[in-house]
Amino acid sequence: MLQSTLFGKTLREPPRDDQSTNAQLLQQAGYVDKLMAGVYSYLPLGYRVLKNIEHIIREELTEIGGQELLLPALHPKENWMVTGRWDGPDPLYKLEDESGHAYALGSTHEEIITPLVKRDVHSYRDLPLALYQFQTKFRAELRAKSGMLRGREFIMKDLYSFHRDEADLARYYDVVKEAYVKIFKRCGIGEETVLTFASGGSFAKYSHEFQTLTAAGEDTIYLCPTCRIAINDEIIAEQPNCPQCKADRGKLIEQKAIEVGNIFSLKTKYSAPFGLTFKDESGTEMPVLMGCYGIGLGRVMGTVVEVHHDDRGIAWPKAIAPYDVHVVRLGDSPSVVAAADTLYADLRKKNVSPLYDDRDLSAGIKLKDADLIGLPLRVVVSEKTMSAGKIEVKRRIEEESNLVDGLEALVAQYL
Ligand code: ATP
Ligand code: MG
Repeated sequence: MLQSTLFGKTLREPPRDDQSTNAQLLQQAGYVDKLMAGVYSYLPLGYRVLKNIEHIIREELTEIGGQELLLPALHPKENWMVTGRWDGPDPLYKLEDESGHAYALGSTHEEIITPLVKRDVHSYRDLPLALYQFQTKFRAELRAKSGMLRGREFIMKDLYSFHRDEADLARYYDVVKEAYVKIFKRCGIGEETVLTFASGGSFAKYSHEFQTLTAAGEDTIYLCPTCRIAINDEIIAEQPNCPQCKADRGKLIEQKAIEVGNIFSLKTKYSAPFGLTFKDESGTEMPVLMGCYGIGLGRVMGTVVEVHHDDRGIAWPKAIAPYDVHVVRLGDSPSVVAAADTLYADLRKKNVSPLYDDRDLSAGIKLKDADLIGLPLRVVVSEKTMSAGKIEVKRRIEEESNLVDGLEALVAQYL
């Protein structure tokens, strides 16, 4: 991608009306644009990050038998009346058309997927089943002050699973837990993200959250330093020691964290009101048991920024960076331009994705922008590097740059 034609310019200053680090950096670097509190546009750079996160999640869920579908965002009121959540505690956006029909903008999809699955699932032979989607959710969140972490409109991966008995639900719940560990690791927040015990509501003793440790977090958790397992603030009274090693509350460390994903054992919470049942081998009608599993994609993106940044900008983990390499051309003499153009073309031939700063701007501005945008690797082509017959390479997370001989050396040592 030529940076001269990239839509979404860097801003000289962070926006004043957004206080969170993720929102400031993502806007200043040209990844997102704020339409109003809690509602953001993804610009081309930001959309590439989002798609990279989506790709990782899709791969891991395909691996565990998830089938992808796409459900509507506009829901009839009737479905939400069945579960009692039309007037429920979580604020829905509601609308009415001219003929007086009422609708909700979907904040989650149990009300849609449960009757859909009822259409096709009748027998034990139809189970287990795991369906997921990437979809826009709408929530009338009261506080939308944390940038991408808490949107009023946001993209969620929601997975729903359907089972014949508790043992099978528990088995799959653990399978998803493992898949989530892989997803967050691949997104670059594996080390900071801890499995957290949370209240399971009335249907299960616990649910689990994946909480990423950072001061920017809205949640408070109690972390066992030995096991790296935590307990959410809300259940600490019921579960005052580490669920694994039983260390007592005094040993647990209070930390701020962001819930990047969660998994719930719903059991019959939604299958009962919708009458989702199946016939077992003896022909007996039994309730289907359900699990649900969410990950907010924008929240993951914002969390990665909270964890991986410095005072100069973002430092993307390789797997979700919008481009692999930032080729920065300093100077505009014909030989420098030719060398940088060639490097850009050659990288693409090697299936490396480069962002090429071909703009006629000062070295200071270009290097500052490169740090702000935060691609994992920066390659400088200038009069100086060319006279040495080299290219200058620097990892975003390191201070020192190195001179390498050329493309082959660059690919071998850095990519
Ligand atoms: P929270 O307690 O933070 O409000 P939640 O319990 O409402 O989260 P779920 O309804 O289970 O979360 O949603 C599943 C996932 O969707 C969450 O783990 C989180 O990653 C993401 N998510 C939830 N609310 C938002 C939001 N307002 N903006 C962005 N992502 C969100
Ligand atoms: Mg919520």
